[in-house]
Amino acid sequence: MPQTASDFIYLDHAATTPVRQEVLDAMLPFLGNRFGNPSSMHRWGRDARVALDEARERVAGALGARVDEICFTSGGTEADNLAILGAWHRRRAERPAVVTSPIEHKAVLATAHQVAREGGEERIACVTPDGVVDVADAERLIDEKVAVVSIMWVNNEIGTVQDVPRIGAAARARGALMHTDAVQAFGKVALDLSTLPVDLLSISGHKIGAPKGIGAMFVRRGVQIEPLFHGGAQDRGRRPGTENVAYAFAQATAAELAVRDREKEQARLRALRDELENAILAAVPDAIVHGLKAPRVGHITSVSVPGIDAESLLMALDLEGIGASAGSACQSGSVSPSHVLAAMGVRPEIATAAVRMSLGSLSSEEAIRHVAERFPALVRRARDFSGLAAESAALAQV
Ligand SMILES: *Cc1c(COP(=O)(O)O)cnc(C)c1O
Repeated sequence: MPQTASDFIYLDHAATTPVRQEVLDAMLPFLGNRFGNPSSMHRWGRDARVALDEARERVAGALGARVDEICFTSGGTEADNLAILGAWHRRRAERPAVVTSPIEHKAVLATAHQVAREGGEERIACVTPDGVVDVADAERLIDEKVAVVSIMWVNNEIGTVQDVPRIGAAARARGALMHTDAVQAFGKVALDLSTLPVDLLSISGHKIGAPKGIGAMFVRRGVQIEPLFHGGAQDRGRRPGTENVAYAFAQATAAELAVRDREKEQARLRALRDELENAILAAVPDAIVHGLKAPRVGHITSVSVPGIDAESLLMALDLEGIGASAGSACQSGSVSPSHVLAAMGVRPEIATAAVRMSLGSLSSEEAIRHVAERFPALVRRARDFSGLAAESAALAQV
């Protein structure tokens, strides 16, 4: 597989990460003879219950939360849906509005649209040209009509860090609940829920070395939400259905490792990322790094080279064995301008050129140096692709 061959370079850790060996080892027994249903009374059930409780406790520990504040979900998307809709359904009679931002992940944006579709009100705070949610504008939108505020901690396209503590404090002051999508923040920024003004928080397993299909939602003690699913009493009724013990255990293991390695790994990746950006900016002077001046995490960079569409550059990178992604949602091969870059006021022709490279466990010094060295040549190759594409489009017109 590409990720193990040294001549392939995976630069898409914000999309997903490989499952860590320690995580795989920790979860495998639950796909084997520790297969019980945690709701069963017998020894198989008790064994699974003990494991599930342990997993919950360890996720809570990694977040600075209490064990009853952790709810396992199928991933970040479900956690976002459950937090926002769950809170809004509970409070909408008195508080019909939600506040969010235009740079959220689709899991939040589409959920906020769903609130509007169900008769609620969606309020969207501005972002600065650097890609950071404008705190004053968010504060302006939060009043006694707002049920929940949902502002992501770290943006997944450009890596900017939002001022969640300040926005959370403003939400709390006006009686609104504060939710944050911390999928890209967890394991990257210091995060301690025992002191943060946050009521609901989402994390995802597969962004931190657990499998796809597991995540968790933090719900502060005393905060009531309506479930999205109906069924059993699992997870205090917040999320019924027989629990995925193996994946909960994987999530717990990955979460602990992410916290343990956070500072060292972020410092390592930040140094490599900065080196990569500096090399690109030196060799391709008209390249634009989105959010360059904003507070950013260390592992994400989003770069546009004017005149070169993302598809051409991605193709050139791919031919070289380097896997990056378009700066925004790439739907069936064609790149539509990123909603994040659009909200920052980036012109469409620059936005559609954006390529995101995200570093992580597979990013060795050697690999990143190689990308930095090859980038200018790949830009030239991509220019040829772009030229060819334009030519064939022109021919098609004839
Ligand atoms: C990946 C991601 C999600 C979705 O998580 P899934 O587990 O894939 O559903 C949500 N928010 C952000 C910021 C993400 O990067």
